[in-house]
Amino acid sequence: MDPRHAILFEPVRIGPKTLPNRFYQVPHASGFGSGKPRTQAAFRAIKAEGGWGGVCVEYAPVSSDSDEMPAVAANFWDDTDARALALTAEAVHAHGALAGLELYHGGGSSLNGESRAVRVAPSQLASGVQFGSLAKEMTTADIARVQRDWAEAAKRGRDAGFDIIYVYGAHGYLMTQFVSPVTNRRTDGYGGSLAARGRFWMETLAAVRSAVGGDCAVATRICVHGADGLPGIEADEMLELVAMADELVDLWDLTVGSWPEDSGTSRYYPEGSQRPWTHRVREATAKPIVAVGRYSSPDLMAEIVRSGAVDLIGAARQAIADPFLPRKIAEGRLDEIRECTGSNICILREEAFNHLGCVQNATAGEEYRRGWHPEVFSPAANSGQPVLVVGAGPAGMECAIVLGKRGFTAVHLVEAEPEIGGRLRWTRRLPTLGDWGRIVDWRALQLAKLPGVELITGHRITAAEILGYGASIVVIATGSSWRGDGVQPGLPDPIAGARQDLAHVLTPEQIAAGKRPPGPSVIVYDTDGYYVAPGIAELLAGEGFTVRVVTTFPVLSPVSDETLEGAMLRAHLHRRGVHVQRGVTVTGIDAGSVHGHDEYEEPWSAACDGIVLVTQQASDDELYRELTGDMARLAEAGVQAAYLIGDAVAPRMISEAVFDGHRLAREIDMPDAATPAPFLREFPDLTSRRGGGAVA
Ligand code: ADP
Repeated sequence: MDPRHAILFEPVRIGPKTLPNRFYQVPHASGFGSGKPRTQAAFRAIKAEGGWGGVCVEYAPVSSDSDEMPAVAANFWDDTDARALALTAEAVHAHGALAGLELYHGGGSSLNGESRAVRVAPSQLASGVQFGSLAKEMTTADIARVQRDWAEAAKRGRDAGFDIIYVYGAHGYLMTQFVSPVTNRRTDGYGGSLAARGRFWMETLAAVRSAVGGDCAVATRICVHGADGLPGIEADEMLELVAMADELVDLWDLTVGSWPEDSGTSRYYPEGSQRPWTHRVREATAKPIVAVGRYSSPDLMAEIVRSGAVDLIGAARQAIADPFLPRKIAEGRLDEIRECTGSNICILREEAFNHLGCVQNATAGEEYRRGWHPEVFSPAANSGQPVLVVGAGPAGMECAIVLGKRGFTAVHLVEAEPEIGGRLRWTRRLPTLGDWGRIVDWRALQLAKLPGVELITGHRITAAEILGYGASIVVIATGSSWRGDGVQPGLPDPIAGARQDLAHVLTPEQIAAGKRPPGPSVIVYDTDGYYVAPGIAELLAGEGFTVRVVTTFPVLSPVSDETLEGAMLRAHLHRRGVHVQRGVTVTGIDAGSVHGHDEYEEPWSAACDGIVLVTQQASDDELYRELTGDMARLAEAGVQAAYLIGDAVAPRMISEAVFDGHRLAREIDMPDAATPAPFLREFPDLTSRRGGGAVA
């Protein structure tokens, strides 16, 4: 280990418990909750195995009037939930780490879709879309009941084996609703002055402490500063609250702003962006502090610990991207650290699909159900067979790496372009998307280290060459391209006038290659809804073009809302002078103008010098079709198996192309490797018990 990093491996005492080091996986959602207890346990345990000294589960509601359905929380309503999550505590302990339980109440932001309970809040104020219902203003009896629920849940947590019990108050949930004068309008001793607004929090901490204080460390998670998203939460006041509550707390867990700010994407938030606020908390407490900041640099981690501002390096996303980061630092294997891209695909997957995933780490969430380990690869039964992988995009790179790690001795990865990376070659050069390049950079380093893998760049291989190559396994990962004919969702025919030979019709790849519209005014037409259209728009605006994004969607880039960056992205483009026209379908392109209709089918047209079509991609699968069009010829050439992976199968998010390449390589010695092997599913035990507690 580099001696400069030794400080990161010092034990830290938190109340009655001792963390083995300063690496701490803060609570974060996964989609596994308490309903998929084995998936949850394996997902958290891998971090403990990788060296994280503290490992927490996600938000765990203390009672059924804090019910997140349709989102998945680690419900901790009763003993059945506690038994499910006890598996996680046990699995984390097996690797010497401490297990944390983030007990929580959503208050007015609880959806209560499953329980149908009335939601409770400090005051009866509307807070966003609540499906036509407001919260009930909590009576003092309600306050006492929630605090009792919290203390009971804390005892269940202790008995389930958790070492760290949270009073979770950040991100705008019930505690913060009490503290913020915007959401707390009470006049009964729980509202008004800071001490009164903080009273609910303090009493809850005291209740939890007296329930489990001698047995467990009590942590609390606060928002230090509201920034834009949490009105009324302000650092100076929060430091006063920290000082007031300090004797009740063993570990301060810090966040800044609302969730989109706290989990800020790399587009708009650099590593350690919370520091201006989190580093002030030491003024108010000598107790251990954990703060996050998408830290991936061990030097920076050591530096901020040395500064005394924080005691523990907190991570959610970086711990997903590389569960073995601490061990790699300990062993001086810094070039093996898979750095988080900050693209928030983990959050998109967890929120939209209730199953977390990661663009960098294809094994995230697959530990239990597919038995994948991020660092351990079983030797392949057919590792002596020569393999040709065509295309070094995300899918091909990942596939070749996993084949190399499984012991294949002769893998050739052939790429047409001089540089590897596939679509990331140009994506990473779009404004704000530089950190996405980490997907390529990490893979380039690993490819260079694998003795069984040879990388050949600058060679566009043909079907005839493949037949004479001498490979017995061929993997085609040739990706996809943006269509130049304007075919778009719901309209399978080309847009009239969308022709590739015209100077005023462009695709994203042509922009990346240097083609520009013939005049200063350009429309970027988006029916894709994610990062490409905003990226191209910002690039062209930065070059002086007058840019308008025209989109079929009701908002620009709706997918970016799933990665928590939609509002920032729209504000960011607005500040750069990009105009947006929503709800418009383009059906025709002429020199100097485009036309179509709006959401009410009214005619729409606009003048422009050029249009960039971000409508739909098409798989580049001709090579695969040509090869497999004549199976007898393929067999004669000694090719025993030809596989198609990544976008060449179907254009998808980068995370899914990486997953596809990883999956094939993990299963390439199975009888039917083209078809994903069935994965383990967790089923309810088919018994029914009354549970969830009675909410008065
Ligand atoms: P994916 O996301 O599925 O990995 P990409 O489109 O990002 O797909 O990458 C595909 C890669 O395949 C590109 O880098 C492209 O240059 C490369 N490629 C396509 N056809 C050939 C070929 N015939 N020979 C070598 N490389 C190819």
